[in-house]
Amino acid sequence: DAYFISDLLQYVKETNEKYSEMLNKKIDITVSCNQDFRTNEHIPLLALMNNLVTNAVEAIEKEGTIHIAVHVSKSFATITVEDTGAGIPKNLIPIIFDPGFTTKFNGEGVPSTGIGLSHVQAIVEKFNGTIHVESDEKTIFSIKIPIQYLVK
Ligand code: ADP
Ligand code: MG
Repeated sequence: DAYFISDLLQYVKETNEKYSEMLNKKIDITVSCNQDFRTNEHIPLLALMNNLVTNAVEAIEKEGTIHIAVHVSKSFATITVEDTGAGIPKNLIPIIFDPGFTTKFNGEGVPSTGIGLSHVQAIVEKFNGTIHVESDEKTIFSIKIPIQYLVK
């Protein structure tokens, strides 16, 4: 079976709007897609996008914005997640993908799993893609995947 990428985007948006409401945050989540396509890799793509967007929700303390974009050009699809949250210190960027690395703790001091980004990295590698991260005024994760791996 195959799903439109625009429907996956809408699903990730709605799921994370609920998550954000649960945390009592005011976050405006927007999505865009320059060219719709059907993919049969909806399960890894949902896992990838949801991990990035839940991290973005968690990075915003009270109020902010998240933009999720899919941009198709030539033979690549680029998925971008931007947030206005706390940001990532430059020295941590090389290690955030390590399995088990986390800076998050719950109210009782129990650490988060730190496996989200290692899962994202494994998915991207399986599709022969690349990941770029930058964190200045905004934090931006962008993932570029040859579109041939996403459509049958
Ligand atoms: P977890 O969410 O369980 O901490 P992840 O692998 O998803 O594990 O993320 C690892 C770490 O990377 C986070 O603890 C956080 O320090 C950092 N991080 C990831 N995404 C963001 C983001 N959008 N803004 C700020 N920090 C982030
Ligand atoms: Mg995470």
